[in-house]
Amino acid sequence: MNYLKPEQKNSSRRKFVKSLSLGIGASSLAFTLPNLGFSKPGKLDKKMGVALVGLGYYSTDLLAPALKETENCYLAGIVTGTPEKAVKWQKEHNIPKKNTYNYDNFDEIKNNKDIDIVYIVLPNSMHAEYTIRAAKAGKHVICEKPMAMDEEECKQMIKACNDNNVKLSIGYRMQFEPTTQEVMRLGQEKVLGAIKLVTASAGYREGRTDHWKVKKAYGGSPLMDMGVYSLQAARYITGEEPISVTAQAYNTRPEIFTEVPETITFQIQFPSGAVGNLTTSFGMSVNSMHTTTEKGWFKLDPFSAYKGIKGSSKEGVFDFPVINQQATQMDEVAVCISENKPMRVPGEEGLKDIIVVKAIEEALETGKKVEITS
Ligand code: NAD
Repeated sequence: MNYLKPEQKNSSRRKFVKSLSLGIGASSLAFTLPNLGFSKPGKLDKKMGVALVGLGYYSTDLLAPALKETENCYLAGIVTGTPEKAVKWQKEHNIPKKNTYNYDNFDEIKNNKDIDIVYIVLPNSMHAEYTIRAAKAGKHVICEKPMAMDEEECKQMIKACNDNNVKLSIGYRMQFEPTTQEVMRLGQEKVLGAIKLVTASAGYREGRTDHWKVKKAYGGSPLMDMGVYSLQAARYITGEEPISVTAQAYNTRPEIFTEVPETITFQIQFPSGAVGNLTTSFGMSVNSMHTTTEKGWFKLDPFSAYKGIKGSSKEGVFDFPVINQQATQMDEVAVCISENKPMRVPGEEGLKDIIVVKAIEEALETGKKVEITS
């Protein structure tokens, strides 16, 4: 789950445990933890062609620029319902007409040898349909988070990819980020003892009244959009699956949030006894994680930003390289496809989040604690 070479990992852990046993660094952040390096995904001989489906904010501002920084991928095609956008992207990104599709002729992508990976960047309610259509066209799929509207859709997406012998990955970019990988290691390997409490908040101020992100039928809501980052943090730090949830909703702008809450707080309980106290919001800018362990703590602030993830622990300040998360994600996905390796973030990981999202929604509706059994 991380990029440290085994010997670096072990020596890091030895240093960490040694200083803990000596009681060093208990109260001071005066020194920086050693930067143990970060290995990029391997380089392939031939780049894979990626087609972006849905040319909105994330495709335009993050994925297309990241595709210029990738080593193993390039922007080979686009799928859009807006002819003017198609022309603009063709010019800007040197995309041939034959690699340009709309939502009606999308299935013809099957015959296009330039396109290896279809990247679904559509409203959440459209993820299942386009993932399944891409899989049936014989293309590997990256699908943005959250994976889909419910567990059934997630399962159909996984099945379609398996049936058509293509790989599926969900766009949880933080799992490719080195500082995040370090907190995953600290948590999952209990380097500072068992996890007691994960607090995490992810949100921004959404002002659009008519955007799909505030419409229930499109899979809009702060929980689906940003809450999955808080949930992911609690899951990847503990390495456990929640057994129960409680949740509360708040709304200070009912004129915008007529269908979904503006802010949601939720509490999740893990089998070990660890607790997650989590927040998500379309009403405020929040972006931090703090974990309390048996013997200390670690934190990231910001924890889910595109750049500049900063963190520290009881031992000192983390110093990992700043990477392009989306480029690294796509490069690693391409390597996994080429070498037929399991994905770091497979469809099953997206499904696990949706199971908890559904339980949180039930807890909001009923006002009761919901046990998770699946
Ligand atoms: P957006 O609204 O900016 O873009 C969505 C695109 O889908 C638009 O180009 C729109 O024209 C197109 N579209 C096609 N059919 C549509 C329809 N019926 N209704 C509405 N739009 C339609 O949204 P976005 O912020 O780019 O989000 C797209 C996906 O990417 C979402 O799943 C979101 O969660 C995800 N996302 C992920 C990250 C990340 O950091 N991983 C960041 C932002 C968004």
